[in-house]
Amino acid sequence: MLKRLCGFFAIVGLVTATPLADTAQAAAWDIESDNFQIRTFAGGPSAAQLRQQCESLRTGLQQVWLTAADQTEWSPRCQVVVHATKSSYQTAVGRGAAQTSGSSTVRVVAGEIVGRRIDLLCDARKVASALPHELTHVVLADRFDAARPPLWLDEGIATMADTTEKRTLHHRDCHDALRSGDALRVAQLLRLEQFTSAKQVPAFYGQSLLLVHFLAEQGEPAQLIDFAEAALERGYDRALRDIYQIEGIDDLERRWRKYAWSKGPRTPQSLVSVIAR
Ligand SMILES: [Zn+2]
Repeated sequence: MLKRLCGFFAIVGLVTATPLADTAQAAAWDIESDNFQIRTFAGGPSAAQLRQQCESLRTGLQQVWLTAADQTEWSPRCQVVVHATKSSYQTAVGRGAAQTSGSSTVRVVAGEIVGRRIDLLCDARKVASALPHELTHVVLADRFDAARPPLWLDEGIATMADTTEKRTLHHRDCHDALRSGDALRVAQLLRLEQFTSAKQVPAFYGQSLLLVHFLAEQGEPAQLIDFAEAALERGYDRALRDIYQIEGIDDLERRWRKYAWSKGPRTPQSLVSVIAR
């Protein structure tokens, strides 16, 4: 089970995985499409608009991050449930969701994806703004099959799909961590899969976003996925040399810090132009 609970203060990885089966499976879907089953609520976002948004986002994200061979139709389709209240959202998503507004779950059995689900909590304007971020996690799972993408890569790429407002906060968090000396070492960032303190979370999200930006600017954005796959197979030092001609993690640390300082607290343009808003 690959589960991502995403939010500025979410303790990702400490969450008890919840089964996909719940009330949403028993209830009828409001609308379905080739790749999605969608349920919203009375007075909430339009199911028809959500369907169009989901399909178009999925296509755009696949074109940026996946190879042609991985751009297949989803079977099973991705269930998307938009919740009207925090209590409904937390009941579906489980413990640890209090500070989040989106969750994605990809269930894998024997190397095959057997379930995809996104839960979203609307904001006061009745907008489910976490959809692009959560959908990015589900799209990336197709490339990694049964393996879990490294957390920094999964969250850094998904955060690229966040609104400009959210990305601005992540950049500020990264800059603050660098200035205060609380920034994680890159070697620690690359291997972190479970937070040990709430203080790590804002630095982790901000640094992951800027690390993804830095690496994506060294070549084509999709090479990030090649890099992560190579790192899983043969380690980060070798993968850095092979894909980016960077001489290992220490060299990456020097180059990335120089890059991050040069950016300051400004928010760079999202590299994912198909979804940039
Ligand atoms: Zn996330």
